[in-house]
Amino acid sequence: MNMRLYNTMGREIQEFKPINEKEVGLYCCGPTVYNYAHIGNLRTYVFEDLLRRTLEYAGYNVNHVMNITDVGHLTGDADDGEDKMEKSARETGKTPADIASFFTDAFFKDIDRLNITRPKTACAATKHIGNMIGLIKRLEAKGFTYIEGGNVYFDTSKFENYGEMALLDRQKLKAGARIAVDGNKKNPADFVLWFTNSKFENHIMQWESPWGRGYPGWHVECSAMSMKYLGDSFDIHCGGIDHIPIHHTNEIAQSEAASGKKWVNYWIHGEFLLMDKQKMAKSAGNFFTLQTLIDEGYDPLDYRYFCLGGHYRSQLIFNFESLDAARNARSNLALKVADLKAEAEPAPKAKLDVRAAAILKKFNAGLLNDLNAPKALAELWQLMKDKEISAGDKLGTVLEMDRVLGLKLEEVEASSAELTDEEYAVVKEREQARSDKDWAKADELRGKLLEMGIEIKDTAEGTECKKRGNL
Ligand code: AMP
Ligand code: ZN
Repeated sequence: MNMRLYNTMGREIQEFKPINEKEVGLYCCGPTVYNYAHIGNLRTYVFEDLLRRTLEYAGYNVNHVMNITDVGHLTGDADDGEDKMEKSARETGKTPADIASFFTDAFFKDIDRLNITRPKTACAATKHIGNMIGLIKRLEAKGFTYIEGGNVYFDTSKFENYGEMALLDRQKLKAGARIAVDGNKKNPADFVLWFTNSKFENHIMQWESPWGRGYPGWHVECSAMSMKYLGDSFDIHCGGIDHIPIHHTNEIAQSEAASGKKWVNYWIHGEFLLMDKQKMAKSAGNFFTLQTLIDEGYDPLDYRYFCLGGHYRSQLIFNFESLDAARNARSNLALKVADLKAEAEPAPKAKLDVRAAAILKKFNAGLLNDLNAPKALAELWQLMKDKEISAGDKLGTVLEMDRVLGLKLEEVEASSAELTDEEYAVVKEREQARSDKDWAKADELRGKLLEMGIEIKDTAEGTECKKRGNL
């Protein structure tokens, strides 16, 4: 079965056909490293990871490229405000390079904790200034740019399909529906390719260019770096839906104007994570990081499971009740897997019985049909509840599913009944408390055992123990 994906360009579900049969070029807009990623940003990276894993599971070799924005992303989308990196530097008294290095490390730590596969190439904007200047030169040679007030602008009126993906209305654009705050712009939608000091004085990060010392606009980095690593045309470009009207619209204009070719075949956008029905933004007070959740006692994979519970094209509302439900479901799953591991070896994929194989097929079909993760999870639970499938077949199937879900079920240890001396001593102490009818102490010791990963059941023959290993 081929993969089907909802393409924002065209607004429909389309069959996925890569340019090269077994290879997929995938570009994802990465973080602006002036602060920690918030859990909304992380939702987008989880969805992109699911896409990559699904493609890999379907047999493609995915060349996954992600930019690290460490210059040029202004606080306002209309080339207004100031560079986010420089603002953070000014506020903290550190250099932009130190801030970028600190938050890039923090970003990778977060995605590792969420078991998100790292991109094959993670490219920092400041290391690719030459590629950006090269791209701007190509645009200049083709007549797509103008210089005003010392800055180089992209002239959107010269690019015939400007705004096609975002369904922007050209007439309204001309009439100035998007208010131009920058008086240098000929058309309100025009955007800066290269800033010079005439726009911002004393910018710390500056490079020589044919247009004077300065720095690149944000959009140009994604075009220059994706074209460097993936070529003038590639398969998939991802990001959050907020990027459709400006960032991705401008990326398309400058890339296609430069090469004269279609740049990206499939545009896949993830919907937002909302807090209290509001978009989560770093500037608003509702800024949660992964560390916030860890400090509240959650495992990062609880958040991953929570994200998988929503379709990537639907808004997902964050609250702790829903996160608790995800945590319960995930630990339940891990407990079942621990028990299966104690019972049997996983059956290899090629030898799964028909019942298990049929569920795995439906699981795959869900994901291949525009990444329907909730449907895939429903199939997983169908499997776990099935009374006829053997432990080995169940385990083999669920581990196979986890290659895409990424819940680290491979690492779950088999449950066992063998206790260490220390653990055994606590069990004995509890038995004593029970025979002394000291129920409060017995309950407290049950809690202590649970924390040690040991579940107990009182039977007529004594205490039955089950050790859950690393859950
Ligand atoms: P930024 O670091 O602001 O460039 O954002 C990184 C990624 O997170 C982009 O793909 C954004 O579209 C995405 N994003 C930003 N806010 C949210 C949110 N609340 N929910 C989901 N994705 C988001
Ligand atoms: Zn981008």
